[in-house]
Amino acid sequence: MTRTPTRKAAKAAEGYDVIIAGAGIPGATLALALARAGLKPVLIDPVPFDAQVEPTFDGRASAIAYAAYRQWRTLGVAQALDPHAQRIEQILVTDGKAPGAAAGPQTPFHLRFDAEEIADRSDGEPLGYLLENRHIRAALAAAVQAAGIEVLAPARVASAVFGPRAAAVTLEDGRVIEAPLVVGAEGRGSVIRREAGIGTIGWDYRQTGVVATVRLQRPHEGVAHEYFLPGGPFAILPLTDNRASLVWTESVSRGAALKTARPEVFQAHLERRFGDFLGTIAVEGPVFTYPLGLQLAERLAAPRVALLGDSAHAVHPIAGQGLNLGLKAAAALAETLVDAARLGEDIGSEIVLERYAAWRRFDTATLSAGMDAFVRLFSNDNPLLRLVRGVGMSAVGRIGPARRFFMQQAGGAVGDLPRLLKGEAL
Ligand SMILES: Cc1cc2nc3c(=O)[nH]c(=O)nc-3n(C[C@H](O)[C@H](O)[C@H](O)COP(=O)(O)OP(=O)(O)OC[C@H]3O[C@@H](n4cnc5c(N)ncnc54)[C@H](O)[C@@H]3O)c2cc1C
Repeated sequence: MTRTPTRKAAKAAEGYDVIIAGAGIPGATLALALARAGLKPVLIDPVPFDAQVEPTFDGRASAIAYAAYRQWRTLGVAQALDPHAQRIEQILVTDGKAPGAAAGPQTPFHLRFDAEEIADRSDGEPLGYLLENRHIRAALAAAVQAAGIEVLAPARVASAVFGPRAAAVTLEDGRVIEAPLVVGAEGRGSVIRREAGIGTIGWDYRQTGVVATVRLQRPHEGVAHEYFLPGGPFAILPLTDNRASLVWTESVSRGAALKTARPEVFQAHLERRFGDFLGTIAVEGPVFTYPLGLQLAERLAAPRVALLGDSAHAVHPIAGQGLNLGLKAAAALAETLVDAARLGEDIGSEIVLERYAAWRRFDTATLSAGMDAFVRLFSNDNPLLRLVRGVGMSAVGRIGPARRFFMQQAGGAVGDLPRLLKGEAL
C-alpha cells in the first residue's frame, strides 16, 4: 500500500540511499555490499552489535553454502571468518533410531554426500562451512564499522510511510529518517512489511528447535550428521576446535522442559539421542530454544520497500537454508540497486524493485515448499512414510547425478547467481 507522508519528515540531510531496518546477518551483509559499491545505507536495530555478539544472545551456528561464503570473501569479511569456519567435507543423512548408524555399519536408509564429488564444479571448495552466528555477527560488525556505515542502535522502527519520491521511517524515539528505499530486514515480526501492507502466509509446526554446543572426545573430521529420529530431525554440525553444534526438533512442551532441565538431566536426554560414536560429549554454554514455523511474505517488494531475510521467508532449519536464502537475496538486491543507480534510475521505484522480486521469487517459493514437504515427511514415525523416505534415500544415494544435484543445491551455486555469489565485485 502506498501512502503519502502526512508527517513532515526531516529531509535527509544525511542523504541516505537505503534505510535498512534490522542489522541481523542479511541486513548487515546488504549494507556492506551497497557501501562497497558507493551507495549510502543506514542500519537500524534495537540491539547494538556489542550485545548481538554476547555468547548468550544467539547460540546458533549456521551451515553456510560455499557460494554464500564467497560473497563474504568478495566483501572482505572472510578473512575475519576463516579462523572460525569449519569446512563441511561430508554430510551423512540417516533415517534411523540409532545415531551414528551411517558412520558405522551401513544402514540401507542413509545418504552420503562428499565434497570431493563436486570438486570440479566448486573449485575444490567444501560443501559449505559451519560458523557460529556470534562470529559472523562480530565480523560483519567490524566490517560495517570500518566501512563507515552509519548504525542507529539501539533504535527501533515504529512506523513508515511510502511517498511518491521517498519513504519516511519513524523510530520509536520520534526521529524520522527518509530515503528513496527502505528494506525490511527485521525478521519474522517485520514492521516495514506490516506498514507496507504486505501480508504473510504460513503455519506453526508446533515444534521447538533445541540448540546446544558440545565438545567431542573423538574427532568429527568435518562430517555433518542429520538423523531422522522418531521425535524429529537431530543434526550434529561440526565446529572448529572439535566441537559440534546440535540442533534437534522437539514438541513445544519437551523443548521448554529441556531448556530448563538440570544439566545432568539434559546430558542424559542428549546421550540417549546422540549415542557414543564420537566418544563422550560435554555441553558448553547455555541451551537455546527457537519456535519453528513457516512464514512467507505475499510479495518481496512494493513501491519504496523491499523485504530481506526472515521478514520475507522464514523456513524450518531442517536443511540449514534460511540464512542462505537471505544471503542470496542480499546479493541479488545489492546488484539490482547498484546497477539501477549506475543507470540513473530511481532505486525505490516499482520497476527496479520488481527486478529483485522476479529474480528471487521462484527460488524462494520452491525452496520454502521443498523444506515444508521435507519437514512433514521426516518429522513423522509412520512406518509407511519411513519406508517411502528410506527407498527415496537409497535411490538418491545410488544415483551419482542425483546426489551431485542435491550437493550443488546445498552449495547454493545453482540458478541465476548474483555476481557477489560468483565471487565478483559489484
Ligand atoms: C535453530 C535454527 C537453526 C538454523 N540454522 C541455520 C543454518 O544452519 N543455515 C541457515 O542458512 N539458516 C539457519 N537458520 C535460519 C537463520 O538463523 C535465519 O534465517 C536468520 O537468522 C534470519 O536472519 P534475519 O536477520 O532475517 O532475522 P533475525 O535474525 O530475526 O534478525 C532480525 C533483526 O532485526 C532487528 N529488529 C527487530 N525488530 C526491529 C525493528 N522494529 N526495527 C529495527 N530492527 C528490528 C532484530 O533486533 C534483529 O537484529 C536457523 C534457524 C534456527 C531457528
